[in-house]
Amino acid sequence: MRGSTPCANEENMRYGGNTTCLQVEIAGQDELLILDCGTGFRNLGNILDETEDPIRGRIFITHPHWDHLQGFPFFKPFYDGKNWFRMYMPPQGGIGCKEILQGHMSSTFFPVSMDMLEADLDCEIFEPGSKHFEGYSIEYMWASHTVPTAVFKLTFGDKVVVFAPDNELVPEDHEEAKAFKEQFNDFIKNADILIHDGQYDRKQYSSRAGWGHSAWEEVIEVARNAGVKQLYFTHHDPDSNDDTLDVREQEINALGADHFEVLALAKEGQKITLSYTIPS
Ligand SMILES: [Zn+2]
Ligand SMILES: [Zn+2]
Repeated sequence: MRGSTPCANEENMRYGGNTTCLQVEIAGQDELLILDCGTGFRNLGNILDETEDPIRGRIFITHPHWDHLQGFPFFKPFYDGKNWFRMYMPPQGGIGCKEILQGHMSSTFFPVSMDMLEADLDCEIFEPGSKHFEGYSIEYMWASHTVPTAVFKLTFGDKVVVFAPDNELVPEDHEEAKAFKEQFNDFIKNADILIHDGQYDRKQYSSRAGWGHSAWEEVIEVARNAGVKQLYFTHHDPDSNDDTLDVREQEINALGADHFEVLALAKEGQKITLSYTIPS
């Protein structure tokens, strides 16, 4: 999944040019679970639109940066009155969730307004804490990013999946960075899957510190210390083409393969399967 902006150039097609959108399918659940509405959200909508049945879904948005919202108005199931969706977003300094989405679709930026969407839609601010739904629970901690941003943690059965597409792990060991990494370590401890921002390598990071994204080397260190089992890097820089990312995948594995069951760069359209049992 691409970070910052879509980049539909030929040299990016293997890892993908669309920005962040992740669907989590839980066995036996009819209700959709979607994380973020980047431009990949449009493609997902086209697939879902093939069904005649009514669609119900919950959509959790890490934060309202363009690359996590740009697919929102292009999701075809929003234009069908038999569908039902609930959106959730962490508090954004007093601005309501609907207000943000409406602003994103105001006439200056987009021809279709929020009230022209026909599905039953509602959006609420997700205050820190946990929410429990049939088959799973979701909670978040604050990411290290430039606006209020969630790192979502999903628990279903005995498995834990953490989604941190925009999260800056600061390499220096000053107090604030150390405190954040300790808190993050507790949050991701023994996670079965961590999907994490790996936009840069350390060299690129040195000129982009404070932009809200991580160097992959730092992520490996933090995830290894926390006992993460499968680590996937996401939010690939738009200027990192397929060849660059192939080399990065080799470098990543050279440094960390021994410490993880899976260590890879996320690819657009990729499916990851996780078997789980429900504790009795
Ligand atoms: Zn982003
Ligand atoms: Zn962001």
